[in-house]
Order: sequence, then C-alpha cells, then structure tokens
Amino acid sequence: MIMEKKNLDWANLGFGYMPTDYRYVSNFKNGAWDEGVLTKDAFVTISECAGILHYCQEVFEGLKAYTTEDGHIVTFRPDLNAQRMMDSARRLEMPPFPAERFVKAVEEVVKANAAWVPPYGSGATLYIRPYMFASSPVIGVKPAEEYQFRMFVTPVGPYFKGGVKPLTICVSDFDRAAPHGTGHIKAGLNYAMSLHAYVSAHEKGFDENMFLDPATRTCVEETGGANFLFVDRDGGIVIPQSGSILPSITRRSLTVVARDILGLKVEERPVKLSELENFAECGVCGTAAVICPVGKVVDHGREICFSSGMEKMGPVIQKLYDTLTGIQMGRVEGPEGWIHTIL
Ligand SMILES: *Cc1c(COP(=O)(O)O)cnc(C)c1O
Repeated sequence: MIMEKKNLDWANLGFGYMPTDYRYVSNFKNGAWDEGVLTKDAFVTISECAGILHYCQEVFEGLKAYTTEDGHIVTFRPDLNAQRMMDSARRLEMPPFPAERFVKAVEEVVKANAAWVPPYGSGATLYIRPYMFASSPVIGVKPAEEYQFRMFVTPVGPYFKGGVKPLTICVSDFDRAAPHGTGHIKAGLNYAMSLHAYVSAHEKGFDENMFLDPATRTCVEETGGANFLFVDRDGGIVIPQSGSILPSITRRSLTVVARDILGLKVEERPVKLSELENFAECGVCGTAAVICPVGKVVDHGREICFSSGMEKMGPVIQKLYDTLTGIQMGRVEGPEGWIHTIL
C-alpha cells in the first residue's frame, strides 16, 4: 500500500487531541438522519440554547484503528461500539444512529485520514471518537428535536510509554452511578460528575478511583473510565458484575480471550471490597490501555498490595495483554469477526 504518512514523531505522541484532515457529520432533523458527509471543518456551531448545553443530552464512543504487521489498517469490533452507542442514545431519549451507518462512517473517516494512522511497530494508534448531542434549542425540560452525530480521529501515542507503571488506586468516598441510573451507558454526564472525585484522588497522590456500588458501598464497580478485572490465586479471572458498570468492549473481549484462547476459568459475579486481599493480580481495562495493572488499592487506612507488585504486569494480565494486542495488530488469530479491515 502506497501512502504518504504525516511526518509525526509517532512513538512520542501523548494522549491528546490533534485535529486531522476529515471528520464525519450527520444531522437528525424532522425525524430522520440525513446522508452524512465528510468535512474539513473541525468546529461545531449551535444555538446558545442547544439541548446539549443545558440538559446534557450527549453520548459518545471510543475505539481505535491499528496498522497490522502486514500493513493493513483495521479496527477492532466496531459493531459493538455501534450497538453500545444505540443503547446509550435510547437511554437519553436520543434517536439512535443506525449501527451499519456507524460502521460505514468509521470506514470513511479512517480511510480519509489514512495518512494519520500510525505505522506498525510505533506503539501509536489512531483514536476514533464518535459522539452525538442535542443541537436544537431546549429550554423547558424535554428531549431536543434535532441532533448531530460526529466522528473525528486523532493519533495517540503508546499508552505504556517509558514502560509499564502499575497504578495506585484509592477507594472513593464519592459515588459514580446509582442503581437503575446511567452508569451502564457511555454518556458525558457520567464523566462530568466524576471529575471532582478524579481531581481529589490526584491531589492525594492516587492515579484513579475505585468506585463502589452506591446502594451498599460493599462491592467493587469500576474506575469511572475502565473496568476492573481480577486474577485469583489459582489463576482464574474474576470480573465484577453490576448493572451500573459500563460494559467495556475490552473487558468483554479479554473475557473471551481468557476463556476460549488461554483456557482460564472466568467468573462474573459481584466482588466484595472485603475480598480484595484474596486476589493475586488486578487490572483495569479499556480501549486506551487494553489493560493496565493495578499494584495497590488504598481503602482509607487499609492497603491492599497485589503480589504482582509496582514494577510490572503480573503473569496472567501480561498474557491477556499480549494476546489481545496480538489480535489487534494481526500477529495472533482472533475469533471470527473481531478484526474489521478498512484498507
Ligand atoms: C469507555 C468506558 C470504559 C471502557 O470501555 P471500552 O469499550 O473497553 O473502551 C469503561 N468504563 C467507562 C465508564 C467508560 O466510559
């Protein structure tokens, strides 16, 4: 494939926004989505009274495009992002953007920005951000009538730049998502309310929060941007189960990798805060890092140090990481349909 790549220092990119050449836009008006177009315009112009600005009707997604070992540009399970975004939209009374059109838009935007897809081996990837919001005026509380769906891409650097650093996480005194609330959908509103907890944790020297179930404050939920995964002393995988955890595609994929490829035992069940000492390894999963090891959890006076330590990934998490990134980069054969080739 002959293609002039942008002249970027790929391996040293951070996780930040860099405008690229094209983005996709489609508008919902009079009860229907329009055809959608690619545009060079990186700016959004909306009414001062647009629903998003007042009552926060917004949902989003995050996925990546990779260059594989044999030079193809691929994405990983975009159909699941498409489906999840439809679920998120319905929960906020927004018109779902059809899943097939979502996947087509991913293909179009990535193709149009192929020069921005980091080369194989650089460790960098192309982050894809689909999102939609209420664009028409709303002042009395109700769903808006018009919406905009957009999708842009931005190259991001290797997550473990300068090596793996296991996280230190504190048990938060704040709650993230109520039972029967919106914790299971990918909406900006869940992040707005988590920022205070995030800043507070950082001020105290922690990397992230461990949120608990708000009803009983005894079970582990998630960090607010990544799902927990534990490894027990027998090498089995334990995944916290709750209706208010965001169903991470990375975590669901790691579950399949663990069970069907690595032959590990996988259990999905409520995980008590009081049983953390029984685990050998802990990690948090999401598109950004795939899986990042947790070295230590601090619950006020109580410190739980996982035996994998503060220097590297534990052996089971390392195997999960190597296998899933191997599938994404085309070095390992994955389950049918996981790799969506674009170019
Ligand atoms: C996006 C997100 C995740 C990770 O999901 P992936 O599909 O693996 O990227 C986890 N928790 C929350 C709250 C999220 O918004």
